[in-house]
Amino acid sequence: MELVDIQDLKSWGSNAVPVQLRPRVHSGSPGGNPTELLIDSHCHLDMVIERGLGVEEVTNTLADNGVGTIVEIGADKAAMLWARTLAHTSKLIDVYYTIGHHPGEASTEDSAFGLKFIEENKDDPRFVAVGEIGLDYHYYADQADIQKRVFIDFVRAARRVNRGIALHTRDAHADTVSILKAEAEGIPTLIHCFTGTKPEMEEFLAMGCYISFSGIVTFKNATALQEAAKVCPLDRMLIETDAPFLAPIPHRGKINQPGYVKHTLDFLAKLRGEDAATLAAACTANTRAFYRF
Ligand SMILES: [Zn+2]
Repeated sequence: MELVDIQDLKSWGSNAVPVQLRPRVHSGSPGGNPTELLIDSHCHLDMVIERGLGVEEVTNTLADNGVGTIVEIGADKAAMLWARTLAHTSKLIDVYYTIGHHPGEASTEDSAFGLKFIEENKDDPRFVAVGEIGLDYHYYADQADIQKRVFIDFVRAARRVNRGIALHTRDAHADTVSILKAEAEGIPTLIHCFTGTKPEMEEFLAMGCYISFSGIVTFKNATALQEAAKVCPLDRMLIETDAPFLAPIPHRGKINQPGYVKHTLDFLAKLRGEDAATLAAACTANTRAFYRF
């Protein structure tokens, strides 16, 4: 096996071993249990590093914020290879990964690779969900038909390999719900980076979905989303960064990174009038329940 630098993404392949992520020793845990740390339930660490954040910076911020586990999203070909390699070589933080096909990539017809990759890795315990998949009519409305076709293909693949699905849905609520109703009965479902309204959230909850909140909920103008977050049941909530995008306040506008999930946790605890440790423990338990790790 060839040793490569984590910064040099282009050289990453299935046989390359990345330089370790090395967080410092954790000083404490937000959940009160010394062995249980916060989880970033959805991030794109490959893109965080591609955008210029150093590994030291990322790992120190993880440690400073008590984040011990991340779920790395493999939603295109390069990302899924990278995610799998990272999950199997990181020793000091726990990394799990997903395999999916981002709706924004639907038109590339690259989805066949992802479907094959799902089958090839179906016995890998670090491969914890199919995602992100779904529909995005905000940016890619002209590709609705192919998005729907790819979405359905991946839901069926998730059923075959007995994994949950992590969904990206943007300005596509009605079609998302109708595909879930037709295709995803009995498949654990997570609405990643939920940005909808309270009635939309309630519809997802009634179908048994988990709801994940990102840094968007901390933004001052996100009042409708905050109304939803206030009443999301404690046993259905997850938190995530979706790094490198959507850094929470007080880092809004900067490159987001997994350690910043702590800011979203603290904001939500205050918003909901809950103790941060209680909310952290619930989000961690829900993340483990959804991804089954
Ligand atoms: Zn994402």
